[in-house]
Amino acid sequence: KPTVIIIGRPNVGKSTLFNRLVGKKLALVDDQPGVTRDRRMGDAEIAGLEFTVVDTAGWEDEDAESLPGRMRKQTEVSLEGADAALFVIDARAGLTPLDEEIARWLRSEEVPVVLVANKAEGKAAEAGILESYSLGLGEPLGVSAEHGEGIADLFTGLWPIIGAKAEAAEKAAEIEAELDEEDLSGPLKLAIVGRPNAGKSTLINRMLGEDRLLTGPEAGITRDSIAVDWEWHDPKTDEMREIRLIDTAGMRKRAKVTEKLEKLSVADARRAIDFAEVVVLLLDATKGLEHQDLKIASQVLEEGRALIVAINKWDIAENASSLFNGIREALNEGLSQVRGVPLFAVSAKTGKGIDTMLSAAFEIREAWSRRVPTAALNRWFDDALAANPPPAPGGRRIKLRYITQASTRPPRFVVFGTRLDDLPKSYERYLVNGIRAKLGFDAVPVRVVLKSPK
Ligand code: GDP
Repeated sequence: KPTVIIIGRPNVGKSTLFNRLVGKKLALVDDQPGVTRDRRMGDAEIAGLEFTVVDTAGWEDEDAESLPGRMRKQTEVSLEGADAALFVIDARAGLTPLDEEIARWLRSEEVPVVLVANKAEGKAAEAGILESYSLGLGEPLGVSAEHGEGIADLFTGLWPIIGAKAEAAEKAAEIEAELDEEDLSGPLKLAIVGRPNAGKSTLINRMLGEDRLLTGPEAGITRDSIAVDWEWHDPKTDEMREIRLIDTAGMRKRAKVTEKLEKLSVADARRAIDFAEVVVLLLDATKGLEHQDLKIASQVLEEGRALIVAINKWDIAENASSLFNGIREALNEGLSQVRGVPLFAVSAKTGKGIDTMLSAAFEIREAWSRRVPTAALNRWFDDALAANPPPAPGGRRIKLRYITQASTRPPRFVVFGTRLDDLPKSYERYLVNGIRAKLGFDAVPVRVVLKSPK
């Protein structure tokens, strides 16, 4: 996406214009010069032209005298990445020496400049608009950021400069969205892990149909050939859905357990986790949840995989409901990486509960593969910061500027800001919990990285 930076001396209306462009309610705008603001980057759109807009208002010094040098230094940095600059003047106030100084400097820069004469509503602005031709930056576009007038004209000014790049970005985004979809149309890569005797082999055989694993070709079975493709009939949608199953237990059985192979199979379980999109941790209802199970579950989440827990042998479970609730609670307590793991009761023996579990596996893969639209992500971020602003240790405010979703499968987010070393872990958790709860990632492991822009 092209980046457009808003430049101008204090109080010309940069933030109002910024807010107007990103479609926010007017916020943090003050008639006093030098009002500092937290938000400086946003997604803007004019008549379908999409770009990232950067507000430089917060970089202003209280003291206007020391402004040019300071602002220049800060602005230069972000000018480097900018595709266009909106140079804003106050058409009512007319030109000031500072405007002229900034204009001189901008003329010496590479970045294309669009001259914006703000506060242009009414007659009082006419003289200022005319005067601004003298800046040597071409025709001024008269706008009123406050009243929303003339904003569409900015399109005319910006399109020749950033139109091509915006179109390319849009195409790239489309392709990206398609790729995400492609990820979902492939077979669901599913692994079943659990302690010995939990019933993994029985479950796999039940799913694939009687003893299919045991009748497969004996020769040439390698650790790489433990994947089985099969078509599962989804009773919820009445569709056939492809599942690629990573079988660890079956292989061990076939090969007749020796100590060495037992060790190998532990490595295979790890490999299965690597390979899988969704991992089912199978528990034994007659044994309950043990420490080892939580360790496996944590490992699955640490590896960034979507996790489902299934309690097997439900047909012989005692005190079924308290058993279920007890495991539910223990999982909530033991796994801080997610909010509520999907938990199912199944019986590999009777087949009960298996379809429900598989439906959930497809659903959780979707959440795991999902990309949050940028607008929704930024909206959430703004709200989260407004509801609970970052602390100011030592009286100096930690600045969190913006967030992006860097990847999916698992979802990873990057939060950009400054003085991040001082950000308390509790605040980081606040953000992570918000992403999970508010953006639909409850049950999947979410990564959040904090970064200072270079
Ligand atoms: P694995 O080591 O996890 O592969 O476990 P197995 O599939 O070999 O099963 C261990 C034992 O549990 C076997 O005796 C199975 O018959 C039994 N078993 C597996 N699933 C169920 C179930 O749903 N109900 C009951 N009652 N027994 C089961």
